[in-house]
Amino acid sequence: MAYEIRTFGDPVLKTPAAAVGEIDGKVARLVHDMFDTLYASDNGIGLAAPQIGVQKQIFVWEIDGEEMVVINPEIVESSGEWVYEEGCLSIPGLHVEMLRPNAVLMRGRDLDGNEIEIEADELLGRLFQHELDHLNGILMFDRMTPDQRKEALAEYRRILDESAAATKPRRLKLK
Ligand code: ZN
Repeated sequence: MAYEIRTFGDPVLKTPAAAVGEIDGKVARLVHDMFDTLYASDNGIGLAAPQIGVQKQIFVWEIDGEEMVVINPEIVESSGEWVYEEGCLSIPGLHVEMLRPNAVLMRGRDLDGNEIEIEADELLGRLFQHELDHLNGILMFDRMTPDQRKEALAEYRRILDESAAATKPRRLKLK
C-alpha cells in the first residue's frame, strides 16, 4: 500500500527515528509499503520511514531494478567531496547543488537481521547520506549555508505557489 509522502513542515520529518528492535513481519510489511510508496512517487530512488510518518530507522532504495533495504544504519566512514544536485521527495520540485563526502561505508541490518556493510560513492553514496539524515530528523535545508538556505526556501515557496496555482480551479466570470 502506498502512503502519502510527508513534506517539509511536517514535524515528523524533524524528529529522530527510533532504532528497530525485533525485525518481524510488521517490519517486512512496512518495507513492502515503503517500496509501493517509492514506486508511486515522482522519480524517487530512495525513501526513509519518517517520510511516510513512521519513526523507525529504516530506509529503502531502488537502483537498476535492485530493491534494497537497510535497518538501523550508520555511516562508519566517509571520505572525499562531491557536489551533486540533490532532490528530496519531501521537498518536491526543489533541486540544490550540495557538497558532501563522496564515498561512505554504511553498516546496518537487512530484513533477515544479518549485519550488512556497503561501500558506496557518488549517487549511491549520496543517497545513503541523504536517507540517513532523514532518520536523524535532518533535511537538506539543515545542511545548507544560511545564504543557500534563504535562496532555497524562497525557491521552494515559488514552487509551492506555482503548483497551488496550477491546481486551483479557474474562476468563471459571470457577466
Ligand atoms: Zn529526502
